[in-house]
Amino acid sequence: MTLVVTGGAGYVGSVCAQHLLDAGHDVVVVDDLTTGHEDAVPAGARLVVGDVAEVADDVLGAGGVDGVIHCAARSLVGESAEKPAKYWHGNVVTTIALLDAVCRHRVPRLVFSSTAATYGEPESSPITEDAPTRPTNTYGATKLAVDHAIGTYAAASGGELGAVSLRYFNVAGAHAGAGSALGERHTVETHLIPLVLQVALGQRDEIAIFGDDWPTADGTCVRDYIHVDDLAEAHLLALDLLARGDASVIEKAGGHLVCNLGNGTGFSVLEVIEACRRVTGHPIPARVAPRRTGDPGVLVASSARARDELGWKPTHTDLDGIVADAWAFARSRAAG
Ligand code: UDP
Repeated sequence: MTLVVTGGAGYVGSVCAQHLLDAGHDVVVVDDLTTGHEDAVPAGARLVVGDVAEVADDVLGAGGVDGVIHCAARSLVGESAEKPAKYWHGNVVTTIALLDAVCRHRVPRLVFSSTAATYGEPESSPITEDAPTRPTNTYGATKLAVDHAIGTYAAASGGELGAVSLRYFNVAGAHAGAGSALGERHTVETHLIPLVLQVALGQRDEIAIFGDDWPTADGTCVRDYIHVDDLAEAHLLALDLLARGDASVIEKAGGHLVCNLGNGTGFSVLEVIEACRRVTGHPIPARVAPRRTGDPGVLVASSARARDELGWKPTHTDLDGIVADAWAFARSRAAG
């Protein structure tokens, strides 16, 4: 198939693009390179530099596109509180323009990078797709709005458009393939594992633990860490499902299937820091800091639907293995 990956110069998008190429697909990456990196675009993919809303019509209008994987997004929770317009425009308005182009040019398949942030503070754990969606931050609200929009476009398309929203939990690790290493390279880093590894690299003195008085076994927040390679595989399986002639699962879902993606196992902040200590051999000083605004205590996915409907099974479920891949990537970046 010929597939367009928006945000294919970013962390998740570049790994998805690599998996698609490895599976023999033709890949066109669309990225404005504001947070992505040109050298992260896998060799073999064609790069179109531009704002998704501005170039979608040309890229899809050229014809022959079998599907879009839409990863391009503004994704900093803290920033989304300070600059809501950047998030409503960057995530919602942009995606509506993309959806319009998808429908205008009759692209039959769409896979969207959604997020656990659509759920907000969960009432029960693990979180299923039927759980209430009450995002506690603007980022999550914009992603939820896009999920709703996709559902309505798919339903109104009369079967012409099939879509899958994948709600990622905590994506981590790195892809190590032939000649390329693809991992997290955020200019503003807010995620736990890369921050802890920065301590091991001597780039920061200590890691702040955001609260140790949560109602969890060791008092620190629990998250569901999923390896980026497992995540990318789910995108390929979603495309397969959409490409199958008997896409009854998609029909039953009204043209739009929502699936959580996580390992189904939660690890606490302290467990992550311990794993980083084991993997790096560095003592990694840590200090308890106040809770971070908007953080739920526990976020763990039920991935039963992804397993049942997509046939997905995460293979990198060991926390030390996930950290080891992130560490290899961080060290290679630090070595230049
Ligand atoms: N966290 C932390 N210190 C940090 C960064 C994150 O204690 O410097 C915690 C955060 O409160 C959350 C977990 O680590 O419970 C994962 O945070 P991250 O930002 O990686 O992902 P999120 O769950 O917010 O999407």
